[in-house]
Amino acid sequence: MDGMSAAVAAAIGAAPWLQAARLSLAALRARGAHALLLHGPAGTGKWQAAMAFAGELLCERPGAAACGQCDSCRLMAAGNHPDLRVIVPDALAERRPGQGQEEGEAEAPAAGSETTGKTKPSREIKIDQVRDLVSLSALTAHRGGARVVVLGPAEALNLPAANALLKGLEEPPPNLVFLLVSDQIDRCLPTILSRCALVRVPVPPRELALQWLREQGAGAQAPARLLAAGGAPVAALRGSDDDLPPDLAASLVALLRRGAALEPAEVASAVPRTVAIGPAVDLFQRWGWDYFAYRTGGSLRYHPADEASFAALARHWRLSCAGAWIDTLVRLRAVADHPLNARSAVEAALLDYIESIRAS
Ligand SMILES: [Zn+2]
Repeated sequence: MDGMSAAVAAAIGAAPWLQAARLSLAALRARGAHALLLHGPAGTGKWQAAMAFAGELLCERPGAAACGQCDSCRLMAAGNHPDLRVIVPDALAERRPGQGQEEGEAEAPAAGSETTGKTKPSREIKIDQVRDLVSLSALTAHRGGARVVVLGPAEALNLPAANALLKGLEEPPPNLVFLLVSDQIDRCLPTILSRCALVRVPVPPRELALQWLREQGAGAQAPARLLAAGGAPVAALRGSDDDLPPDLAASLVALLRRGAALEPAEVASAVPRTVAIGPAVDLFQRWGWDYFAYRTGGSLRYHPADEASFAALARHWRLSCAGAWIDTLVRLRAVADHPLNARSAVEAALLDYIESIRAS
């Protein structure tokens, strides 16, 4: 997939649910904060909000928003502003070059993407990418104003890179602003978080998201796509190039629905050899999270029509066992990029599900 067009990125950056976050960023910056971290669920437009704010900081005509007309704004639009540094894992940079890079892809598997090299592009932000900032810091801004680093996802910083970045965050060079973006703030290093001012971007109210999706041309599919994306409008707009084939997703959910009646023999025939582990585990996790929501009085975010299935499950499946199953999924998700046997890994997750219900 190519990077999204600058127009789409701009439409996302200007989305109504992001404006509160952008005002918070501006207020924090006005008070002298030099390290800002936007966090919240994937697919809500945080990355585009960070890029829009970077444009604001770099704009040569002071005002509430980037003017769109000065030299700096033109360089920004062209994607080659000399005082802007964008740092993403190589795996994201290859797929979504430059400013069209989308957020929310940190967890998306590279499986099936057409990377030509022998080695898989890294999904981590490495020290070489961050060490480079020292030289950026040593320079005066090309255009005499601010310099901005946009980095994400922050949870992809590996330890050496995070430690190198800390130096910059601790002793900020004048006029250098760090904008970090994270989909999973609980996976960011505390030392990084403690040096950043945090701004949260929530999932917007459904009606607002739907209206925006329709304005972007999502049409009649908007409600279904928003639901599939767990309410995250940018993910809904982007569609599902990393999702499972719809019939496979449907048959996996059908297995989960069988709950206590599910037999191990049904699992073996249901999983194709080429299944993508990441999206399959994501699907299982969404099921597990909705079960938690059901048991704790929350609303069903991903499977709103499955209340009866969860009610039936609740007669057999202890919450603590469900929690343990989700933990195994998290561990499986963490190794989803390793060359496991995909089918056996996905089957094992389903067999664990059966065992977890039976052990309850
Ligand atoms: Zn401007």
